[in-house]
Amino acid sequence: MGLTVRAGGATDVGLVRANNQDSFLVTEALFAVADGMGGHAGGEIASQVALTTLEHEFTERSTDGLVDAVEAANEAVLERSLDDPDLSGMGTTLCAAAVVTDDDGEEHLGLVNVGDSRIYWFHGQELEQLSHDHKLVQEMVDAGEISADEAAEHPQRNILTRALGLASNLPVDRWVVSPLAGDRFLLCSDGLYEEVGDGAIAAALRRLEDPTEAAEELVRLANTEGGSDNITVVIVDVVDDDGRLAAATEALAESPSPRHRPTVKADPDPDPDSDGAAAELGDDEIEAGRRRPRTALVTVLLAGLIVLVALGGAGWYARSGWFVAFDGDRVAIFQGRPGGVLWWDATLEERTGLTRDDVPPARLAQLDDGKEQSSLDEARIYVDRLREEGQQLERQAGATTTSTPAGPDGPSTTATPER
Ligand code: MG
Repeated sequence: MGLTVRAGGATDVGLVRANNQDSFLVTEALFAVADGMGGHAGGEIASQVALTTLEHEFTERSTDGLVDAVEAANEAVLERSLDDPDLSGMGTTLCAAAVVTDDDGEEHLGLVNVGDSRIYWFHGQELEQLSHDHKLVQEMVDAGEISADEAAEHPQRNILTRALGLASNLPVDRWVVSPLAGDRFLLCSDGLYEEVGDGAIAAALRRLEDPTEAAEELVRLANTEGGSDNITVVIVDVVDDDGRLAAATEALAESPSPRHRPTVKADPDPDPDSDGAAAELGDDEIEAGRRRPRTALVTVLLAGLIVLVALGGAGWYARSGWFVAFDGDRVAIFQGRPGGVLWWDATLEERTGLTRDDVPPARLAQLDDGKEQSSLDEARIYVDRLREEGQQLERQAGATTTSTPAGPDGPSTTATPER
């Protein structure tokens, strides 16, 4: 019935970013990675608030309890961003693993995910991605609209479809796994997998036994590949499974069935008693159970789904746009819609070197309202155009001044064109 785990983690700012907005948590039975986003100090605060709340609220050691703790973390980040205008629009990803106990007293590993940090399951010396990225481009790949290669180059590849801190109603993906001794679970922010391929990750996990050393090595590898984002890695090792491996090996000797079968549930389950039962069911049986006619329940679920889809659509619309506007005196690029949509506020993506004085007067009104753009690249092109127009005006002004002939008694001009 016992599950003994050992874990280690590492995080690094990387080689490009000014600050580390990632956070991680390693306790005796709870492990998590969060990747924050949002201007000012928002990203750092969002990931820290999420993990502090998760740890504090994870009191019922079940998968339901873990999901509840994630929901509490979501509320905490949301409240904090509503309380402080400087933190408005901040959010964070969150993936977590915890040792949980089912109704029969058996221990399993409960796993949850929101956003594009990832959970990998390393078993049989091979790496398997368990979690699903909540990203716009991932949805487009799943729908067959673009290829995985196109997703990697897509201008909207950074847009998340789910994160903590944006709305009260947050669907949380969940899994319950009965791992064997020797299995490892890798939790990481996108700063790792965007830089280091699956093959190199698996090789490091085969090579280094100590979870902290393996985590540090993966962070180091990401930095050698460019370190363009914050990098965070947590590794959870199953040290003892209380005889499951031995039993599975025995069973394997008798039949050619898979050595173990994961119990994977991606939907929050309304029935609190079904956790343990689901652990005993095969995939086919779970499917059959779902197909039972329960008209009233189905109607309620459908209504809920429609609301979720509508909210998701509004959230997607709110987060999918880009615009250029002033941040104080500085021209900046924002993600979102000018003025926000419902409770989704725009977030500062990057400040440019341009100030209000550099902007041609004719463009000021556009920027005061927020000039919408279809992508981050478009927004950058627009900013470049502003800079060019401003410089052109400056040159014209300079040329006018110097071309004025200054006679020996005339006023001498100090204005000279810079180029
Ligand atoms: Mg990141």
